[in-house]
Amino acid sequence: MSEAGRLIVVSNRLPLGPNPSGGLVVALKDAFHEAGGIWVGTSGRIEARPKQRFDSHPGLAFERFSFDLTQKEHENYYLGYSNSVLWPLFHGRADLMETRPEFLEDYRGVNARLAQMLASELHRDDVIWVQDYHLLPLAQALRDAGVSNRIGFFLHIPFPALYDIMALPNSEEFIGWLGGYDLVGLQTRRDVARLLEVFRSRPDAELLPDGSAKLGEQRIEARSFPVAIDTAAFAREAASAAASRPGVALEPGEQLIMGVDRLDYSKGLPNRFKAFARLLETHAEVNGLVTLLQIAPPTREAVAAYQDIRTELEQLSGQINGAYADLTWTPIRYIHRAVPRARLAGLYRQAAVGLVTPLADGMNLVAKEYVAAQDPDNPGVLILSDFAGAAEQMEDALLVNPFDLDQVAEAMARALKMPKGERCARYDALMDGLLREDINWWSRSYLKALRGVSRGLS
Ligand code: ADP
Repeated sequence: MSEAGRLIVVSNRLPLGPNPSGGLVVALKDAFHEAGGIWVGTSGRIEARPKQRFDSHPGLAFERFSFDLTQKEHENYYLGYSNSVLWPLFHGRADLMETRPEFLEDYRGVNARLAQMLASELHRDDVIWVQDYHLLPLAQALRDAGVSNRIGFFLHIPFPALYDIMALPNSEEFIGWLGGYDLVGLQTRRDVARLLEVFRSRPDAELLPDGSAKLGEQRIEARSFPVAIDTAAFAREAASAAASRPGVALEPGEQLIMGVDRLDYSKGLPNRFKAFARLLETHAEVNGLVTLLQIAPPTREAVAAYQDIRTELEQLSGQINGAYADLTWTPIRYIHRAVPRARLAGLYRQAAVGLVTPLADGMNLVAKEYVAAQDPDNPGVLILSDFAGAAEQMEDALLVNPFDLDQVAEAMARALKMPKGERCARYDALMDGLLREDINWWSRSYLKALRGVSRGLS
């Protein structure tokens, strides 16, 4: 174990089970091995009398500290303020926000309760890394409880424009929450610019010459750290999955276009289906020779906006299939279920085109997974929305405006016909970047920056 203080990671959901998996677990493995520490998060249990508990497991380099939520907290803190206020707002859908006083009250309440539990467990030199939008007020609540440790935040979703923040009933309070952190990590330079714009607009904030900001007594550094995948491991998984399992049954000469997304309104799925219909309409030569496989598992179904998007998509796929299908060809195969990871990796590799067209997305890891999964000798083509954070690093994809259906349809036509030389050149450039800036690079660079901040005013 090194001299560095312990790492305390806080995320909404704690990775559970004896052998937890997921991007963040991989990302933090080395850091926990080096410094030891605790991972804090909700237990996934809803209890009338919520409890908290530590557990450690011989195979894990971190202790776990979990806490339960009440039903009311689950509804108001998680489904309410986090997923019916912050999620839509941060994804440019203020119109879908549902604001209720009790949402905010329990959002504050859960964060304050967590801060109380956590404050008494901390050592003086612990470094605290808070993950994502469920926990924005945590640093301020910890500061109120007397914690002066380094505290960093990473936002996995886009940071909103000043104009959107004005739509929050508690916009002042929201900005104050950021003021508890030493380091705010965002996915892209675009997000950093938006955050600095917010500080610039405030009389009580000052932008310092080194690019950081001062809000009240707190100096806040804002930097981009694009989140990533375990590129080499995913590439291996895709190669072995493709070798060992059959993919989608295709007719000779038929090509697969593939999309994989949680069924979320931010993912632009109706636009994607419409653009595919536009391709079929304007490029008669591909009719019968291209299938769109869309895998979109349900998510947050207790929130009304998610029921609406499901209905819309089912209607749309039915309409398009009704208009174009024939006895041997179904243009859209829409699967409303999760698919095991290894299976997904093999399917990505089979797909000639990866279609990633969110209307707003913090990063979009599917774009990175699709590229990592390709056969280097015969890679497919990634079509990527300019509105995904990944576009900032993945300029060698076919970048598109997902609102422009004709442009997306033309990009599909181009990708389906792209010569192998161009496909390989684009893949090589993209893969270089993904191998260089992988998930370990992400966590290492963030933690180096967090451990390096000097507390207090410069
Ligand atoms: P978000 O975090 O908004 O869901 P990302 O694209 O960043 O979007 O990450 C989604 C992750 O979920 C990816 O790792 C992807 O492989 C996984 N995923 C998405 N849809 C499915 C599915 N149907 N089955 C299995 N995994 C999925």
